[in-house]
Amino acid sequence: MKVRVRYAPSPTGHLHIGNARTALFNYLFARRHDGDFIVRIEDTDVERNVETGIKSQMSYLRWLGIDWDESIDKDGGYGPYRQLERLDVYKKYAQILLDKGLAYKCYCTAEELEEERRAQKARGDEQLHYSRKCLGKEDRDAEHAIRFKVPDNQTYTFDDIIKGEVTFQSEDVGDFIIVKRNGIPTYNFACAVDDALMKITHVLRGEDHITNTPRQLMVLDALGFDRPRYAHMPLIVNEQGKKLSKRDGSIVQFIEQYHELGFLPEALFNFIALLGWSPDAKEEILSREALIERFDEKRLSSSPATFDKGKLHYVNNRYVKALSLEETKDLCRPFLEKEGILNGKDAQWFESLIAVFKDRLSYGAEIVGLYRDFFDKPFALEGEALEFLRQDGVKTLLETFKGKLEAQDEIDPDTLKTLIKEAGKETSMKGKLLFMPIRIGVSGQMHGPDLPQMMNLLGKAILVDRLSRAIASI
Ligand code: GLU
Repeated sequence: MKVRVRYAPSPTGHLHIGNARTALFNYLFARRHDGDFIVRIEDTDVERNVETGIKSQMSYLRWLGIDWDESIDKDGGYGPYRQLERLDVYKKYAQILLDKGLAYKCYCTAEELEEERRAQKARGDEQLHYSRKCLGKEDRDAEHAIRFKVPDNQTYTFDDIIKGEVTFQSEDVGDFIIVKRNGIPTYNFACAVDDALMKITHVLRGEDHITNTPRQLMVLDALGFDRPRYAHMPLIVNEQGKKLSKRDGSIVQFIEQYHELGFLPEALFNFIALLGWSPDAKEEILSREALIERFDEKRLSSSPATFDKGKLHYVNNRYVKALSLEETKDLCRPFLEKEGILNGKDAQWFESLIAVFKDRLSYGAEIVGLYRDFFDKPFALEGEALEFLRQDGVKTLLETFKGKLEAQDEIDPDTLKTLIKEAGKETSMKGKLLFMPIRIGVSGQMHGPDLPQMMNLLGKAILVDRLSRAIASI
């Protein structure tokens, strides 16, 4: 049997990291098993749909590198793939259930239902289920919803790939609406019918849907359809163990925002794949191809996936490090331009900036903060660094180097390298005793990025000023 899985977004907003993870695991599962990956649009909650929802969801899936075999733009013979275009399908199956006596028309208005619930609460009823007062009533012309008649005393069990055996009792589920008064199906009904008609073999989705599963099983069983295999993935939580709230500003949650911040899609793909899944060997940096090859649904975790920001940055940094200097410049340029940081700077300065920070970057926009911190950091000489400058010959070296620098009209990394060498030769300082004093003399630090690039970035005026202060404090 060919594996067929689906990602079924409701177009109620932008692509959230949790949904992207669901899409990604379905995608990996399909590719791993040479199956089909379907994107089905579940737009039956009409009031919650947003205009750009579908377009945004699909374009950011594509940006992440997730492609599909069937959807609204790619017919695979199981369409339409948008639920509002399938209303006649749901009508047909609702009628079958009505004819079999497995569903019934409900004429209750929202007010009546509310009144019923209030009375149940007042009586202290344990379950607030629909009273079935419309069961057996038939009034063809009156406006009605269609309710599923939940079987009595039934146990629903399924073998979840992640959670193992899961059991629900039918007593815990009240007769639920499958088609609303406006003729639009509810999620559980449309989803079950579509999963069956689209020959979906596996449903990988968030754990928040597990309570929907018995309702979907009831519909599938009632219509004589095969059940797919389910895998309910634990939620993503923040570092405090709390469920990600869309209002939590400390975590970037929408894929569009990652795009805007200059994250690399391949890196984000890699990071998301590790949210609740891990490969057999302790590997963290895995390309899409490697992930497809290694993906094993049995290794999906049954405990919540912690969104670890450190790991997000680590994984993304590894991908930025692997870029060429030119690619990193392209990644960072828009953010620097937007802040006016490149104004009046030459190409060499821009290159030095990127060369200095490339290995520390996780995403494009980060360059702005790194640049600011670098220039905002006060220059101070203390402790071990200052002691280092107090060695024999260092003062002369710094004076010689400073003199050479002052005599130079224009600087660039190559010229700076030459000046350092010349100063070393003239003062007989070499190796650590040559480079370290100069590094300390211009940055106050004993470690840091490539010295000529960093010096070029600082520019002549700052270098001369700092060297003078260093010489004075020896
Ligand atoms: N439309 C549902 C959602 O966006 C899909 C749930 C499912 O995968 O069945 O949450």
